[in-house]
Amino acid sequence: MEVGEKVLNFLDLTIRLLPDDLDDGLLTPVFSVYQKPTYTGLSINQQSLHPTSHKFAAIHAAVHRMISLPLSSSEREKEIAVISSIAEKNGLSINVPTLVKRTILRRSLNQSRSDPAFAEFSSSHFGGSIAIPASETTREKWLRLPYLGSSSDRLASELRRFGYRVGFYPLTRVRDLSKLKDPVPVIDSPGVYLLTCSCGDLYVGQTGRALSKRFSEHRTHFNKLQKKPSASNTSLSAMARHCFHQSHPFDSVHASLLHRCENGSRLNRLEEYYYTIKNVIESRESNLNMLNDLDVVFFNSFIRFNLNYK
Ligand SMILES: [Zn+2]
Repeated sequence: MEVGEKVLNFLDLTIRLLPDDLDDGLLTPVFSVYQKPTYTGLSINQQSLHPTSHKFAAIHAAVHRMISLPLSSSEREKEIAVISSIAEKNGLSINVPTLVKRTILRRSLNQSRSDPAFAEFSSSHFGGSIAIPASETTREKWLRLPYLGSSSDRLASELRRFGYRVGFYPLTRVRDLSKLKDPVPVIDSPGVYLLTCSCGDLYVGQTGRALSKRFSEHRTHFNKLQKKPSASNTSLSAMARHCFHQSHPFDSVHASLLHRCENGSRLNRLEEYYYTIKNVIESRESNLNMLNDLDVVFFNSFIRFNLNYK
């Protein structure tokens, strides 16, 4: 890349360098798929006398490439539309979003199996590199996932296609129901929180520190935008950006703690859980907007894939 230039086409990638929220003077690379202007998308037509697998090869290759690239969700949507149009041009009847969904799922399953931690586990427990017994391939495989409502049920039925059974675990525990310790004021507690704008739009977040501290960071982002509107980008608080762009007063944003929690991984699960409830149940019924970016919220790759590709 030449000095001063911020965009580079490299093979089938377009790499842009964009400013982010950190004041470190460094730019963040953003990726998208690059196609030559002369690319027509024409491949083997459905009508021609070729094996079916050859006809779909271009589609499968494009899907695999898309999944391998670190694309943002909007870039991914665009690429899915492009792949769909290529399929259409060649007379191939295929549901690309579903194909993408299943490819991601299959890949996630293969990765968790080939994870070094899995090999380590099998060698330390079964002594050396054991050959996986033949019965292993036919035996039912189980996955343990948090239960996040109806989306979890859909995920379970999707996983069943690949021979996996799902064991769900609930997020609320009996010990969360009793309060024996001196109550810490809510605003000084860590946990999953909800921000509500005066217009009703919602944002679910998590913090391992006091909610008051985290909330003041949202305010800092808002103040920053007021001083320098050009700083607006996705690394700034979604609520701050919403208030700024819609001219809604940040002083009227209400912060409340949904669930007190300190543990990191439980926080992630809880945030997913509350996000799902707020998003799927409440905001859809009342036509309110969730300001969260799904790609950022969902840490569990299975849950994330399921909600992203509904
Ligand atoms: Zn608002």
